[in-house]
Amino acid sequence: MPDELHQPRYAESFRCIGPECEDSCCQGWAVCVDKATYKKYRATPSLRRLASRYIELNSRGRDNFKYARIKLDPNRTCPFLDPDQLCHIQKQHGADFLSKTCSRYPRALAQFNGRPLQALFLSCPEAARLVLLSPRLLSADDDRDFPLENSQTLAGLQPLSLQLRSFAVQLLQDRAYPLWQRLFVLGIVCRRIHELTASQQMNRVPQLIGQYAEMMAQGLLRPHLDGIPPRPGLQFDLVLGLIRRRLQIEQPEAGFAASVADFLVGIQHSPDTPPQESANHYHNAYTGYYQPFSQTHPGFLENYLINYLFRTRFPFADTVDCVEPAIDPLRSHLLMALHYRVLHSLLIGAAARYGNDFSSTHAVQTVQRFARSVEHNVGFLDELKTLAAAPDFRNTDGLALLLAN
Ligand code: SF4
Repeated sequence: MPDELHQPRYAESFRCIGPECEDSCCQGWAVCVDKATYKKYRATPSLRRLASRYIELNSRGRDNFKYARIKLDPNRTCPFLDPDQLCHIQKQHGADFLSKTCSRYPRALAQFNGRPLQALFLSCPEAARLVLLSPRLLSADDDRDFPLENSQTLAGLQPLSLQLRSFAVQLLQDRAYPLWQRLFVLGIVCRRIHELTASQQMNRVPQLIGQYAEMMAQGLLRPHLDGIPPRPGLQFDLVLGLIRRRLQIEQPEAGFAASVADFLVGIQHSPDTPPQESANHYHNAYTGYYQPFSQTHPGFLENYLINYLFRTRFPFADTVDCVEPAIDPLRSHLLMALHYRVLHSLLIGAAARYGNDFSSTHAVQTVQRFARSVEHNVGFLDELKTLAAAPDFRNTDGLALLLAN
């Protein structure tokens, strides 16, 4: 199986809708400028003055991709936008003058085992619709690239990262199980791999993956999974704490603040609400409002997670574009599970807030706002990474608290 086939097709079909777009990818965040583009701007007389005024070198550590960044104006808009909301740089100098970030967005391009990998940033509303509303995100051709049934026979032929990603992709698409159970089992497998790695028994990993694939296919884990109780009180507290932390780190986009308000109204939570009452509302919001939505849109969060796998190069732990770190399945999984937890809870709250009117339009908007304010916020992502490396969720109990509904 040639490596170049390990690439999902859906991202290739994205088309920017330009003036029809309800959002702007030039608003609300500091855009990175790669080193070659920065030097080109400095060397172009008509851009030199603007570049020194509006582009600053990256103080958070420089690599070629994130060498510098554009400073937003007081309205949190890109200063290179003209009054018609068109990019001055592109208009004057052509698309070749755009930075890698600007020319690629919303495509998330990365290297995976030395091969290019493409996914989409769901902060773009059109990309969010394309991904979240697909009945099945991966095509039949994609499925042939992630052959779970061959994971044992391919052992030794494929790097561990590919074996584990094939397993994860297949597992997350197995609709015989609720999505949270698929994510839970993936967490258990990642934790076992973590233990095998620590005890220098990596040669047992293919067998482990094959065993879990078999157990899931035969339904052997179902009694155990169905017996895991949800803990809505602890889960709600956790989510509330994470959302508060995000709001403290930096003022979020107005859209995300509105989604948080919807969440709190939907759960009927205020600072005076007794904890047990909030827990009950949260649980009832899930069963009464979100569950019916997820039953009619079974691919919605499943697609989010599959795109997440590709976008972040699971099972590599970092999302840095240029450097390929060592794989870290457990940390990588927990980071994904934390994203899932916050987003899923926001959707639960939104579903309760809008009741019978809750639609896929509300749901896509919640994801898009989350992606803008969480997935692109470096400070908050750093905190999630630290949490994913801490012992809190590195056991069955912690995973269940995070995922079970
Ligand atoms: S957010 Fe997406 S659809 Fe909208 S202008 Fe940017 S790339 Fe195009």
